[in-house]
Order: sequence, then C-alpha cells, then structure tokens
Amino acid sequence: MNVANWLADAADRQPGNPALLQGEHLVADYAGFRALARQAGRRLAADHGIMPGDRVAVFMKNATDYLVLLYGIWWCGAVVVPINCKLHPAEAAEIIRDAGARLVFTDDGDIFGDALLVDGCLENTSVDYATGLPARSDADPLARPISRAPGDLAWLFYTSGTTGKSKGVMLSHGNLTAMSLCYPVDVEPVTSNDAILYCAPMSHGAGLYNFIFVRTAARHVIPESRGFDPDEVFSIASVIQNVSFFAAPTMVKRLVDAVERHGLASDGIRSIILGGAPMYRADLERALAIIGPKFIQIYGQGESPMTITALAKDIIADRSHPEWKRFVTSVGHAQSCVEVRVLSEKGKPAGWGVRGEVAVRGGTVMKGYWRNQPATDAAIVDGWLRTGDIGYLDEDGLLTLTDRSKDVVISGGSNIYPREVEEVLALHPDVKEVAIVGQRDPEWGEVVVAFVALRPQSQQDEESLLSWFVSRMASFKKPRRFVFVPELPKNGYGKIAKTELRALLESDKPALGIAA
Ligand code: AMP
Repeated sequence: MNVANWLADAADRQPGNPALLQGEHLVADYAGFRALARQAGRRLAADHGIMPGDRVAVFMKNATDYLVLLYGIWWCGAVVVPINCKLHPAEAAEIIRDAGARLVFTDDGDIFGDALLVDGCLENTSVDYATGLPARSDADPLARPISRAPGDLAWLFYTSGTTGKSKGVMLSHGNLTAMSLCYPVDVEPVTSNDAILYCAPMSHGAGLYNFIFVRTAARHVIPESRGFDPDEVFSIASVIQNVSFFAAPTMVKRLVDAVERHGLASDGIRSIILGGAPMYRADLERALAIIGPKFIQIYGQGESPMTITALAKDIIADRSHPEWKRFVTSVGHAQSCVEVRVLSEKGKPAGWGVRGEVAVRGGTVMKGYWRNQPATDAAIVDGWLRTGDIGYLDEDGLLTLTDRSKDVVISGGSNIYPREVEEVLALHPDVKEVAIVGQRDPEWGEVVVAFVALRPQSQQDEESLLSWFVSRMASFKKPRRFVFVPELPKNGYGKIAKTELRALLESDKPALGIAA
C-alpha cells in the first residue's frame, strides 16, 4: 500500500477536480497533479538514481511544489524526510546526515554552501525540479506508484529534540494510512467540495493531513505568503469556501485577535483542527465567541501522528451542556485506530481519574526511532508507546492531559502540574499568554515560576496576579516569581519553548527584554 496510490486513484476518478491552488489561483487539477508527481518520481529514479527506500529530504516553505515532491518521492518508493523550514541550515544538515538522505530539496539551492557536499552524502536541488522540466534521461515514466508494503518506511520525521538529541520517527505507509482513515471518522468527514489550507508548516501535522483530502479529490490551498498570516487565512477562506486547516493554539489566538481587530468574516472556514499544545479553556471560550463553533481538538505526537484522541466539534460547541467545562478541559476520546491507557508508575493501568503516563497502541504508532534501538525500546514497551504525557481518563473515556512528565514541578515534595496553574492565570482577562516552569530552589527543590505576557495597556503586576491566583487555587501551587515578557518564545511549530524559559532561569540572566 503506497500512499501515492491515493493520488493515482483520485486522478482516475476525478481528473478535472481542482487539486492545487496557490492562494485563490488554480495551479493544477487532479490529472495535472498526478502528472507532475509522476514526472517528479520519474526524474528522481532516472536522473538521480533514487531507489525504493532511499531517503529524500524536503527543506522548504509550504508550496504547491511541496505536495508534488512528496508524491513524487513516494511514487518511486522513496522516503520523505520533512524538515521544518524554520530550522537553521546547520540543524537541517544534521538531520540530513542522520537520515542518510541522498537528495535534499530546498527553496534556495545555495543554502547549505558546501556543508553537505563535504560530507559526500548528497546532491542539493532547488525546487524548480518539480515544475515539469524534462528529465535528463528519457526513461519511461512510472505508470503507477512503486508497490510498497504497509510496513515500508514513508515518512522520517525528526522530533524537535527538546529532551536531547533530535530523533528520527519512522512512519510507514501503513501508519499514514491508518492516521488518514481516522480523520473522516474521528475528526470529520471530507468530500471533494472541501479544501485544506496549509498555513502551519507542511513538514509537520498540517502536511500529514493532506492524504484524506487527496483521497477524496478535494482542494489543497497554499497561502501566497507560504506561511501563516491571519488576515490572509480569512480572505482566502472567504473566496475558496469550505476551508479546514490545522492550527496550534498560538495560531488560533492570532486568528481571534485578527477578527477582533479587523472584523473579518469567518464564514468560509469549515473547521479549525487545533492541537499540538494545550488550548486553555479561557482561550477556547474566546475563540468560540469570536470565530464561532468551528473547532475540533486533536491530540497526537510525532510518534503517533495526529492520532491519539479527538474532541468533537459538537462537544466543543455545546456551551450550554452542564459538563462543558470538564469536556473542553479534556482532549477527548481515543481515535478509532488506537487504544489509549493511562499507566501508573509501575506500568499498570491506572484507575479512573488517577494520573499517570498516557500510553497508546494501534495502527498509527511509529515503527521506532531511526537507527536508535535503545530509544525505541524505551519508547515502545510491550507494544505500547509511552507518550511522556501525564493525564487521566474519566469513566466516560475522556482523556485529560495535565502535563508532559518532564514538565511537572516538584516543590516541597508536592507535584504541581503547570497546566493547572496556566489554566487559572489564562482566565485573567489581561493575560495574553502564560507559561509555568520550575526553577531549582535550595529550600523547596523547585519553585513555580510564571512567565506572563500581558495584553497591551494592561496594568497588572505580580501582586494583582497573585491575588487573582490565590482566590482560585491552593496556595502551595502559587507562582513564587512572575517574569513579565512582551511575548513568550515559540519553537518553529508555534509551541511555547519552555526549554528556553528554563534556560533563562538557570542562567538567571534575564534577556530578550525580560524584567524579573
Ligand atoms: P509533537 O511530537 O511535536 O507533535 O509534540 C507532541 C506533544 O504535544 C504531545 O506529546 C503533547 O505533549 C503535546 N500536545 C499535542 N496535542 C496536544 C493537545 N491537544 N493538548 C495538549 N497537548 C498536546
């Protein structure tokens, strides 16, 4: 089962359906998309000698060519190594080396200088490759994608490396198929009238959501900016209609701000699938009030991409439900191709409501880490992927995440879950963003530190935030220190970079305009 078959089949069934759009402009219909992908696959095989199983890296901003390249790489049986375009070329080079990629596609062919050639690993090709230039050799096009077994590698994705060296997550054609089939069941059904907009990096979740939209011969829209511009999202959606897209919570906040500022209409947006980081209830309430009932939440991780749980749109939208608060604090129910458990410290299933590490088993769980058996053995135990996330299951099957296990702050022997503290501070109308981290402390072991970005013109200070906090939560959880920042640092995928905040605290040299 080669995932590229879905493109071949969609083009057989609906060749004239619009497929690739740059902003509002049509670039290719399904017959054209297939022709470009087949041509790319042919050139990879004939001109570059790419063989099934070879790794080909893509280090590019979002583009219609990005999709052409993905399907071209799969067409000839090779493996995609997607690299976050926001990484430094030196970091990308590290990934390329580790993956042993033979070819890398970039927006700018000179980006690496000689760095890669010195290592002798590959050629570096800029993207004009995908635009249908004739192949140097006149070998016959591959009529259909090369046959691949479900367990064959398709996507070698590098984790952000927040807990050490970045690791290559091996996802097979079978994993990607399982993930994609969950979408219409657990997220929402898709038809050829739908459109997916890629405003988050395609090297990550946004790109992985392409498959079911290919399968159904729906439209794929790349913003002209090739990135995330809230005003552009609304303007594209109003023209294209029926637009869905993946967004991290920080992106959702920017969308909400844009609507508030410019009074934009969100009628062209069908759904915003949010995930990748905690969405605080206060932020969700605001988003619902301002953008409308368009949100679906998913929880996944690179090792079980986009697919651990989902919280349905109608549950999120029904604010009159007496249990709404509990529902939307959770990340929903297990998706259909996986089982979810919470494990106690001894590795046994924990009872309802008891916190432990979330574990998942099923069709989306990675094959393991690339050339790293010790890390694979630590992550997958008896067939269950240990997610490193802490949470609890309710009797009705809802999973609530409290934190990453490494983020828990242990102060005076008590476990404090940053997510809880963040939820309370995020409710404050003047708080724009908040992140809680632990700081080493000789007396308490660790103390809670709150990094806070306030809304413009707000007059809050440490004392007023503290009194807001202690009137709502146990005093032992209160932040011992507030650090006010204009904005919280984010990684390339828009997640708050707690490692950076911890490093600032460790060095105790408040930088980046931080006033302690
Ligand atoms: P990544 O592998 O970079 O996609 O990061 C996955 C991690 O992001 C998960 O293990 C969670 O810690 C976090 N995450 C993903 N989705 C959610 C969500 N809906 N709510 C809270 N945290 C999430």
